[in-house]
Amino acid sequence: MFYYSKSKYVLFNNCNRRLWLEKYKKEEMKEQGNQARLIAGNQVGDLAMNLFGDYYLAETNPIDINKMCENTINAINNNIKVICEAAFIYENNYCAVDILKVIDNNTVEIYEVKSVTEVKKYHIIDTSYQYYVLKGLGYNIKSVNLVIINKDYVSKEDFNLNEYFKIVDITNEVIEESKNVKSNLDLSDKLLNDSNKLPDVKLSKSCTEYDGCPFQNYCYKLKNIPDNGSVLDLYNNRSKWKQIDSGIITFNDLLNNKCKLSDIQKRQIDFYLNDRKEFIDKIKIKEFLNEIKYPIYFFDFETYQAIIPDLIGIHPNQQIPFQYSLHIMYADGRLEHKEYLGDGINDPRPKLIKQMLNDLGSEGSIIAYNMSFEIGRIKELAYNFKKYYNDLYALIPRFIDLLIPFQNGYYYNKNIGGSFSIKSVLPALFPNDPSLDYHNLEDVHRGDEASDTYINFKYMEDSERIRKRNNLLKYCCLDTYAMVKIYEKLNSFIKDDDIDE
Ligand code: SF4
Repeated sequence: MFYYSKSKYVLFNNCNRRLWLEKYKKEEMKEQGNQARLIAGNQVGDLAMNLFGDYYLAETNPIDINKMCENTINAINNNIKVICEAAFIYENNYCAVDILKVIDNNTVEIYEVKSVTEVKKYHIIDTSYQYYVLKGLGYNIKSVNLVIINKDYVSKEDFNLNEYFKIVDITNEVIEESKNVKSNLDLSDKLLNDSNKLPDVKLSKSCTEYDGCPFQNYCYKLKNIPDNGSVLDLYNNRSKWKQIDSGIITFNDLLNNKCKLSDIQKRQIDFYLNDRKEFIDKIKIKEFLNEIKYPIYFFDFETYQAIIPDLIGIHPNQQIPFQYSLHIMYADGRLEHKEYLGDGINDPRPKLIKQMLNDLGSEGSIIAYNMSFEIGRIKELAYNFKKYYNDLYALIPRFIDLLIPFQNGYYYNKNIGGSFSIKSVLPALFPNDPSLDYHNLEDVHRGDEASDTYINFKYMEDSERIRKRNNLLKYCCLDTYAMVKIYEKLNSFIKDDDIDE
């Protein structure tokens, strides 16, 4: 039996084409999925079940929708007051309510759990579908609520469920939105039943949100969006969806339509279309480099976030530094590498702070790429570990951001494209250097992989943990070595050059 579900309804509301493609063009779907986000969501859901004391879980394993509905009805009839995963079907529309509070046989309250810290429009759409199903079955719905995470919660020795969660009453918004459910379901039905007609939609931020829609390639191809040189590749382009909708797809289209462009965007387009090699503003680069003082500390943190705080004194999703890499360049040209990596079991921060303060010394510039991230973490460490407050704050004025020469346009080459992240700049500056290629690393190639690896240390066998630990160290080491190479490259542009100042 095919049931329409809440997740399908949300997908349909996001984009009228997505379900159709899943039904008729499944082969175009790209594999994806953020496992870590899914696991975190499940953990929060499990925790929330305890919010109202004893509960009955209507869910079956494996999922059997009809049995779950039967369990739910029996529980209601047996006067059970809190039912989790309470399942209902109305006219082929199935939903499972995270937490259903039963007031009496016919009156209920809906509580939908989301592992987020603020209410978004799609939460209203999501719950309006549940409201529609339960209302259709004749229930009197006293209230509809979102159970979200209180971002101001600070974890204590004893986890406090009622402080951790925040309940937001969204009854009025849901009642209003529920008026659209029937017509949306009818439209969805109509579109899904026409196998010959691909639903006509506008490309939008839904195409790229979260991990990106798995049909991106297919839909972009239909719009003739090239792999390179499109409005989607343009630096900081806030009008891209509007432009695509009005048929402005490529860099040439932007010029032909006299679209308003920033200087950085103009340069990107010019370099791309005219195959220019590189732009170097030697004066600005020299000014930037003159600010840097020896010894030079190239520094980078790796962090993880836990939606359910796993340490005392932190907020949900607070970034916890568990690793750093540091390359130190001395005035005589010597290069030294230092690093720290937690064990994945104990709070990594106390040892990290001690070693970091020691390794970073008391003078010399600290170079980070996008330094606001490192400075933000140092401020949080100072807040959480007051005895190091002054020492940690003393580091901040020494920071210099290696992103500046690229973001401010002192240097550009065509291969940088429309992003100035280190992952774009590095291969553009060193296209043929395998030692600087993140693809050549094992296990860990990106920040999210680094944090997943660290979080999972405690579940690994010794041999696996040793291997992954080693690869994590190599990854973070490359981050700071890359900065060293970029710094040297910038220096090479101004070397032996007479620059009028
Ligand atoms: S890529 Fe965009 S338009 Fe295509 S199905 Fe996904 S969200 Fe819809």
